[in-house]
Amino acid sequence: MTGLSVIGSGYVGLVWACCMADRGHQVVISERDREKLRLLNEGKLPFYEPCLEGLMSRALAKARLSFTSETCEAVANSEISFIAVGTPSIRLGGMNLSQIKSASVDVGRALRETKFYHIVVVRSSVTPGTTTNLIKPTLERTSGKRVGRDFGLAVQPEFLREGSAIRDVLNPDRIVIGACDKRAGNRLRRFYRAFYSHKVPPLLEVSPTCAEMIKLASNAFLAARVSFINEIANICERLEDVDVVDVATGMGLDRRIGSAYFNAGLEFGGSCLPKDLRLLIAKSKQLGHSPLLLEAILRANDLQLLQALRIVKEELGTLSGKRITILGLAFKPGTDDIREAPSLRLIEHLLELGAKITVYDPVATQKASQILGNKVSYANSLHTSLRNADCCILATEWPDFKRLKPEKFVSLMRVPVLVDGRRVYSPKKYMDRLRYRTIGLGSRRR
Ligand code: NAD
Repeated sequence: MTGLSVIGSGYVGLVWACCMADRGHQVVISERDREKLRLLNEGKLPFYEPCLEGLMSRALAKARLSFTSETCEAVANSEISFIAVGTPSIRLGGMNLSQIKSASVDVGRALRETKFYHIVVVRSSVTPGTTTNLIKPTLERTSGKRVGRDFGLAVQPEFLREGSAIRDVLNPDRIVIGACDKRAGNRLRRFYRAFYSHKVPPLLEVSPTCAEMIKLASNAFLAARVSFINEIANICERLEDVDVVDVATGMGLDRRIGSAYFNAGLEFGGSCLPKDLRLLIAKSKQLGHSPLLLEAILRANDLQLLQALRIVKEELGTLSGKRITILGLAFKPGTDDIREAPSLRLIEHLLELGAKITVYDPVATQKASQILGNKVSYANSLHTSLRNADCCILATEWPDFKRLKPEKFVSLMRVPVLVDGRRVYSPKKYMDRLRYRTIGLGSRRR
């Protein structure tokens, strides 16, 4: 059993901490947000993630997990500290480093007091060079100690997906370690071999900057796949007898291509793909390279939402005064995360065009209401959200939405126009019964 501390109790930090505690480690989480800390101390989750509540209760019941606002206290009681604070991008490119800087200062001050070799692991996604050029000097300055001599430092990017975060942490495709010093690399390798003793994932050891690059490049590639299939969808729509779902299936069966992140629909969103792509673009420009392909991925994604808007306008004509239901607010199913959610941008456009919006999401309504305020109506059930609507746009593919039969839309809506932004319904079945429109369906299939 190892004493661990985790700085930041967000979607990454809390899941990581609970998984570690569940496997027998003693974990202290340091969180600076008072409200989150209050919830955690009451045994409540500050966000939704499937199965996390049970995992956290179990860890708390066994007294393996605790929370504090004092990073010093957390670090002092541990051998390894994981930094999992937020790294948002700033609009004009680049990274908002404030959380990383403050966490590094806090950890550095704590290291001043430690008597034994301690390892700091950067789990946040940062632009290449951040650990070497910012985190390392900050830790050394504030601790008065040296990396490699007095404490260890490594980058270990996190690849979990919200909605399946626990599964991803417990069964990762790979562990990437970018250690600044040999001792830290050796210790972490032993730590992960023991932790994953049931099935050790491939362990890749690289330089810290390379580990940072692997994370951003991976997300840029996933974003590229989504933008690629969306582009193909937009071409399919202008052909006759083609459905992008068949094209994606046919392509995905090729083992060189595969089917992950290959679903056409609304733009990609969330707290990672757009942000990491922007970070990589900004870094590339800073280094003097013009990242044409990366910029095109982002631009194509920005424009993708207009495809759905065009379809809605084709069906409804003017949107002024039309009642439109948005099914799903979270950026994807299985989470309440609404950071850069496509639904929010869609709603913004529809409101500008004079539509009256009703929204429904099984878990993300409360978070979205902090942004949308009273500009929209909030339905408290799936069925009430559809009542008397002129159009329904499916923005997040929650399982409950997938189960809605065409008859339900027809019986509840004033005008049964369904715009399937996630390709969850069978066009054949739904088209026979209502005005079904979707992305990537050729003209003769409509
Ligand atoms: P988040 O915003 O949900 O959580 C960050 C937490 O850190 C917040 O609760 C914040 O209050 C806390 N914090 C900030 N500064 C602190 C400090 N000095 N001391 C203590 N607590 C502090 O972020 P997240 O979604 O968990 O992401 C964290 C990092 O992991 C980001 O770099 C992100 O890009 C990366 N990442 C996220 C995901 C994901 O799916 N969310 C997946 C892989 C990687």
